[in-house]
Amino acid sequence: MTNVASNAAAIRASDLVAFLAALADRLKQERAYLTELDSPIGDADHGVNLDRGFSAVAAKLADMHDEDLGAILKMVGTTLVSTVGGAAGPLYGTAFLRAGGVLAGRTEAGFDEVVQAARAALEGILQRGKAQRGEKTMVDAIAPAVESLEAARGGPLALLDAARQAVAAAEQGMLATTPMLATKGRASYLGERSIGHQDPGATSAYIMASVALATAEQRSPGAAAKNLT
Ligand code: ADP
Ligand code: MG
Repeated sequence: MTNVASNAAAIRASDLVAFLAALADRLKQERAYLTELDSPIGDADHGVNLDRGFSAVAAKLADMHDEDLGAILKMVGTTLVSTVGGAAGPLYGTAFLRAGGVLAGRTEAGFDEVVQAARAALEGILQRGKAQRGEKTMVDAIAPAVESLEAARGGPLALLDAARQAVAAAEQGMLATTPMLATKGRASYLGERSIGHQDPGATSAYIMASVALATAEQRSPGAAAKNLT
């Protein structure tokens, strides 16, 4: 690794590959939980879907270390679209493809580029799924996180601290889906009976954000020292 001290917040291909490997592991662990969440208000496949998709992503990571950030993200997007069924595959696939479009040709990304990529990912989900906030979907976790990052841009917080706030916003958004009435996706077929269940997609979105943060924390020497105090 070069130039870490002068640009500690920059994200490089090795960071993205580490995140995706950790995410594939975590989604395997959470497979039963996510599927359980998808049982009362869906068809009990969300964890299975994401595990299949990210296992396929993980199998391709070894070839990706020398690629730029955009190429890696596009590989994730196309892999998810082709291996994950249901609503979540095209939605998450579109999100990674859009983020990859923003970071095309880039070997590193700082705060601004991360925020732009996150916004593009959200916009892709909104266009593809046509959900607004409050409809009990992944949007309810992702939109607050993206807005939190955008609000922090240009302020005093370093990217890592801004990411901590964004993950907390995603968690709040995830928890807020429980009392919501589902009006998009499979859960909407249940009408009032969708109330009282946490949304599986909002949960997987929070998991993705928290794994990204954990990876960044582990890979940032400064942050590790700070965590000890
Ligand atoms: P399916 O519902 O087709 O079985 P999954 O179980 O993999 O697909 O994913 C379900 C999740 O997808 C839901 O919990 C919800 O968060 C998300 N979702 C469904 N429809 C939409 C939509 N139109 N916009 C955003 N997210 C959606
Ligand atoms: Mg499902």
